[in-house]
Amino acid sequence: MELKDGHYVIQGVPVTAIAAQFGTPLYVYDAEKIVSQFNTLRMVFSNADVKIKYAIKALSNLSILKLLHKHGAGADAVSIQEAHLALKAGFSPDEIMFSPNCADFSEIEEAVKLGLTINIDNLSYLKKFGAQYRSAYPCSIRLNPHILAGGNYKISTGHSESKFGISVHQLPQILDIVNQYNIRVSGLHIHTGSDITETEVFLKMAEIFFSVATDFPDLSFIDFGSGFKVAYKEGDAVTNMFDLGLKLTESFNEFCRQYGRKLELWFEPGKFLVSEAGILLAKVTVVKNTPSITFVGVNTGLNHLLRPMMYDAYHHIINISNPTGEDKQYTVVGYICETDTLGADRKLSEVREGDILAIKNAGAYGFSMASNYNSRLRPAEVLVLNNEAKLIRQAERFEDLLDGQIELVL
Ligand SMILES: *Cc1c(COP(=O)(O)O)cnc(C)c1O
Repeated sequence: MELKDGHYVIQGVPVTAIAAQFGTPLYVYDAEKIVSQFNTLRMVFSNADVKIKYAIKALSNLSILKLLHKHGAGADAVSIQEAHLALKAGFSPDEIMFSPNCADFSEIEEAVKLGLTINIDNLSYLKKFGAQYRSAYPCSIRLNPHILAGGNYKISTGHSESKFGISVHQLPQILDIVNQYNIRVSGLHIHTGSDITETEVFLKMAEIFFSVATDFPDLSFIDFGSGFKVAYKEGDAVTNMFDLGLKLTESFNEFCRQYGRKLELWFEPGKFLVSEAGILLAKVTVVKNTPSITFVGVNTGLNHLLRPMMYDAYHHIINISNPTGEDKQYTVVGYICETDTLGADRKLSEVREGDILAIKNAGAYGFSMASNYNSRLRPAEVLVLNNEAKLIRQAERFEDLLDGQIELVL
């Protein structure tokens, strides 16, 4: 979204017109931005055999999956349902990484039947997998490197108290099981969490990979997970992708020479690809003056965008109905009956009831974490593609709330 000739536009389409056409609340995604982020990733790692597996959980709309697939992405699924969405969107089984945590083992069996790449994240399942498939079906192993990195603790997954992965200190047990059942380990995986800004964290992961890789002669890929950070506000520290690309590719290629074979370099970005491409549009329902604060109430809330309350995430907010108004101080709040502040003490250009606000960086973990809390309906989703706003999910209707409910005769 950019300001052009006094109007906010996406690919030249005025955002206020999109709100008028499809109504609010509304999620709007910019296909160009998604593709350009994807191409940036591919470019910075172009000196390696890089494969980008889009983390479906960030934003799982079929049209978004199709868009990324069309441009060459694979997919990273953390549930069997996500895997089925990816298959439905046209990904072939071999393009899908299945990386669940604490999912029932039957999901892994189903994923094997489907032909997905399986990523195993605990010793118990590695044993089960070995006993069942032996060398007949390969798997990847998710390691926990004991690195505390990234943003919010809830999204840090690579530290010693995290439930994710098999500890690198348990390498002997891993090798015992692998040897006992003759398991073909085709990949090693680490995902340390989200919002990592330092190249050094990835280089440290690389060192860990490289130190254990020699124990696994059948590798075809090394998967660095994700964690690339994007800017949520001006001046935010972000992952320096060019620096990371240069240094990591160099050390990866050197490692491949030592390993004796070219391996694929995998990543599983979610946020990096779709966060900045998305906005959540909401209508100002009420401007409420209190003796200390001016609240702006909108027709959305934590039911549609959980990140501010869940992770204390900052999402920039813009009054797109009044781009040239005088800046004033507001606290923007949702319509949910519990505290659901979307932005506290923000400067917005003067807000009037009926104005449309755009909440930025809403592409990742926005719609995909939305709920029906307060029996509110989930919003529609629109993708701006080739300079045209296209509906990719209709807004829920009241009937959707009743769907599946069984009314007892009382
Ligand atoms: C959530 C997740 C990702 C994506 O993380 P982002 O911060 O959105 O890029 C990648 N891999 C796995 C295994 C995940 O659980």
